[in-house]
Amino acid sequence: MAKSEKGASVKQIARERIEILFSLAHDKQDNPELANRYVSLAREISMRQRLRLSKQQKRTFCRCCGTHFVPGKNLRVRVQHGKVVYTCQECGNAVRIPLRKNTNQVR
Ligand SMILES: [Zn+2]
Repeated sequence: MAKSEKGASVKQIARERIEILFSLAHDKQDNPELANRYVSLAREISMRQRLRLSKQQKRTFCRCCGTHFVPGKNLRVRVQHGKVVYTCQECGNAVRIPLRKNTNQVR
C-alpha cells in the first residue's frame, strides 16, 4: 500500500493541480470565461479523484452554475442573522455560512 516514496501520488498531483487552477482563476478576474474554465477543470479533477475542495476553494465559485466569483462583480456578500450569505449574481444561488466564534475571524 505505502508507495509514497515513489514520488507524489495521483491524488497529491491532483490536489496541486486544483490549487494551481484556483489561483489561475483568481488571477483572471478580468477574464471571467477563462476563470470559469479553470474552475470547471478544478472541479472535474476533484470529482474524478474524489478530492474534497477546501473551504476557501469552495467559496470562490458558485456550486450551482460554476461561476468563478469576483466580489462586487458577480458576488454579493452580506451578513444576516450571524451568517455570511454569498449570493451568486449569475444564477441567484445563495450560500449561507455560519459565523463561528473562534474561526472565521480574520485578523
Ligand atoms: Zn451561480
